[in-house]
Amino acid sequence: MAPLIHVNNHQKTKILATVGPASSSKQNLLELVQAGVNVFRLNFSHGAHSEHQQVINNILEINEKYNVHIGILADLQGPKLRVGKIENNALQIKPGDILTFVNDECVGTMTKIYMSYDHFANDVQIGEKVLIDDGKIVLEVLSTNKINEVKLIVLFGSVLSSNKGVNLPDTKVSQPSLTEKDLKDLDYVMTQPVNWIALSFVREAKDVKDLQKKIKAKKHFAKVVAKIEKPEAIRNIKEIIKVSDAIMIARGDLGVEIPIEKLPGLQKMIIARCIQKAKPVIVATQMMESMITNPSPTRAEVTDVANAVLDGTDAVMLSGETSVGDHPVLVVEAMRRIIGETEGHYHSTAKRPSPDPDSETYLSDTLCINAPRLAETVNAKAILGLTVNGYTAFKISSYRPKPDIHIFSDKPHMLNTLSLVWGVACHLYTKFTTTDETIEDLNQILVDEGILHTGDIVINTGSMPLHKRFRTNMLKITVIE
Ligand code: PEP
Repeated sequence: MAPLIHVNNHQKTKILATVGPASSSKQNLLELVQAGVNVFRLNFSHGAHSEHQQVINNILEINEKYNVHIGILADLQGPKLRVGKIENNALQIKPGDILTFVNDECVGTMTKIYMSYDHFANDVQIGEKVLIDDGKIVLEVLSTNKINEVKLIVLFGSVLSSNKGVNLPDTKVSQPSLTEKDLKDLDYVMTQPVNWIALSFVREAKDVKDLQKKIKAKKHFAKVVAKIEKPEAIRNIKEIIKVSDAIMIARGDLGVEIPIEKLPGLQKMIIARCIQKAKPVIVATQMMESMITNPSPTRAEVTDVANAVLDGTDAVMLSGETSVGDHPVLVVEAMRRIIGETEGHYHSTAKRPSPDPDSETYLSDTLCINAPRLAETVNAKAILGLTVNGYTAFKISSYRPKPDIHIFSDKPHMLNTLSLVWGVACHLYTKFTTTDETIEDLNQILVDEGILHTGDIVINTGSMPLHKRFRTNMLKITVIE
């Protein structure tokens, strides 16, 4: 097995990097892993399945060859609305202009512009806002024939080019959250060992449950990340967090759909709720945007990443910076340094979760939350846990403990999944004999790896009897001999 320098194994906050032309080769991906990436995101808004397949093969090969547990997140495009082709790819639009959006495909001019959303005329109401190209162009609905034609007045103008994204912050969009394209992409994704599937433009808990049902029907292990980027999702945030496996604060579209000054407060609220419910949370978009072209970040970007770390996020995400940027490796290295420096200032005590007596996992929850509490009380070096479906890792991590968290599983795909989770270091362990032997074995593995030393105190969690694979029901304090 070829050795790999684990540059990021002492950091708690994970790095998620989007793959694109700037990062898709095996060598690029390996350099990004060495720089500190924990999970790669495949963006299904771009690229053919054959291209994604090559990237997946490369990641799996890196995992195998270097004994690492890099996760894969497949991000489905969802009902992203767009205008069609624009004449000469540039239409100068000024305040006061009247535009007509239609359902029939055409080359866009000042007379008619195609909009890729069949129910647009039916769903919009007079007076609602329509935002194009991340809000650079703002329109207001003047009239609709409720069939296929909408007239709009321009409030803020700019140059409109082909295929620009459209946001409808005021409109109740009737389109399902899984489009025909998403269903095709999902069929493909479920033939692959992806760990997380992200659902775009989630509006309510049912959107997430529908996708989870589809995944379960295929007996796939992928977990669902709900992307929060609509005002409706904010209104339904409690229920969405409850049913989702993880949350992404998709600040790109969210910052267009809500007044942008609300973003920081919402980010803090969503992270705090996710920690309470032991759901991993990702802060996404424009974290190091200037590094798409520049070799170093702005002061504001450094502070933004640091703030996400101080909020207690599980992961920070890079988009264009690693997919199409000029300096993918430099940006990951810079992010890693910001995380490393900032974690020294992180105080998690105000955000700690408490077990819910009404939960069916109340007893296990209580034990998992007391493991890190005990670990801190006795000044333990590490907490060690075994997991089948990730439950123990999610719960222990949600306490955001100071001691390191080492999670063992016999399922490589589960370890790759847990790469997204705050503080979790993953280890493959396939032996599982008795509880006593397994605990000794796990401690010894970490001693052999140079992570634990004689005299270190560790907290072992497990379930007894081991072969029944119950949820975590046991805690032990061990002093390493
Ligand atoms: C976002 O809007 O912030 C986001 C992550 O979504 P996407 O990049 O898929 O548009």
